[in-house]
Amino acid sequence: MYLIQGIVLLLLSISLQSRSIRAFGNVTSEEIVNSNACRYDSVSAIIERANENVGKLNGDFTIMHGDIMVYTGLQNAAPCTSRGCKWPRSRDGNVYVPYVISNEYSSSERSVIQRGLDSFQKSTCIRFIPRTNEEQYIDIISGSGCFSSVGRRPEKQILSLKKKTCIHYHTVQHELLHALGFKHEQSRSDRDKHVKILFQNVKPEKVRNFDIEDTNNLNTPYDYNSVMHYSRCAFSSDNKPTIIPIPDNNVSVGGAPEMSPNDILRVNRLYCT
Ligand SMILES: [Zn+2]
Repeated sequence: MYLIQGIVLLLLSISLQSRSIRAFGNVTSEEIVNSNACRYDSVSAIIERANENVGKLNGDFTIMHGDIMVYTGLQNAAPCTSRGCKWPRSRDGNVYVPYVISNEYSSSERSVIQRGLDSFQKSTCIRFIPRTNEEQYIDIISGSGCFSSVGRRPEKQILSLKKKTCIHYHTVQHELLHALGFKHEQSRSDRDKHVKILFQNVKPEKVRNFDIEDTNNLNTPYDYNSVMHYSRCAFSSDNKPTIIPIPDNNVSVGGAPEMSPNDILRVNRLYCT
């Protein structure tokens, strides 16, 4: 009897161990606790897992830099906010951005998305409002991953938050910031002064996710804690770091649980002042 119980316990422990190894790849739990290790709950880790198989979606657009929808023929490294993709400011000083949330979501998923939308009105002039009949609006759907185009489009703007996978407060805010015209922090024009990209650790097909772009930094400092910053092991081929903060390698990078004060400041500088 004891022998059978012992065998059952042994099998159970092997099963649990193999499950945790599957969950974390080659990284030990000790490394996960270490702030310098790869993080599995960061925005970029969630986006990377969700978008693993999102490459070319259809003839109209592709996904670049991990989660940015780029329409065919419209690829441009210059900030679109200087080319008319800003949402307009109304006379009362607010910027009203209509949205529709697909009815595919559960009520709890919907409430996470709603919290992300509502978070902007606490600290900025952005007011996400339910669409009535506006031509330009954000269409929040459960597509094949987490992604958005950058800035306002001439027609509806798709913002995909895949059910179950992408429904996290920080991920919702991240995609909404793309929709408002913001790019990734580590693609900032001055990023090489603040991080070193270890290209030798990046999956070869993902190297372009680390392109530098001509960004409007709005006189705000580089921010390792921006919700738009990818994490230390983003797009790593082997769980080794791909983004190293310089000069202090011990700074936490890309682990923001929500918009940082600098993210909020940028929204205010671009839209509200
Ligand atoms: Zn992104």
